[in-house]
Amino acid sequence: MTVNILQFLSAYGVLLCTICKEPHCIPLRGVEQHLRDFHKDTLTKKHRAELVKYAHSLKEQLVNPKDVVTPPKENGPVPGLYKINGWECLICQKLLGTEDSIQMHCRPHGWKLNEPHMWKRTYIQVFT
Ligand SMILES: [Zn+2]
Ligand SMILES: [Zn+2]
Repeated sequence: MTVNILQFLSAYGVLLCTICKEPHCIPLRGVEQHLRDFHKDTLTKKHRAELVKYAHSLKEQLVNPKDVVTPPKENGPVPGLYKINGWECLICQKLLGTEDSIQMHCRPHGWKLNEPHMWKRTYIQVFT
């Protein structure tokens, strides 16, 4: 069971902490601190040490989550990774986090208040 807490997403080379409320990826050198800071109450010291060991066993395959390119949406959501609500511009596919910002973004595309939306609701996934 231990190992399942840190899920290795081999397609992206990142470790996902699945017991976080908002599962996100942890860089290898941040694993120990993350577990200590966030999951001290859930995991025993021994348990945490095992997870750190597990993370290090994947060292060769891991990349920094910051360097991971968010996969194209056609691939569908990354399983287990936290999703944030967002908005997608239907003209240029830009993703933005709030409706205000997507409205602003769409003005140069010719959008005006009370006109049909040029965007749709979507989700954004980030690895960090
Ligand atoms: Zn966590
Ligand atoms: Zn746009």
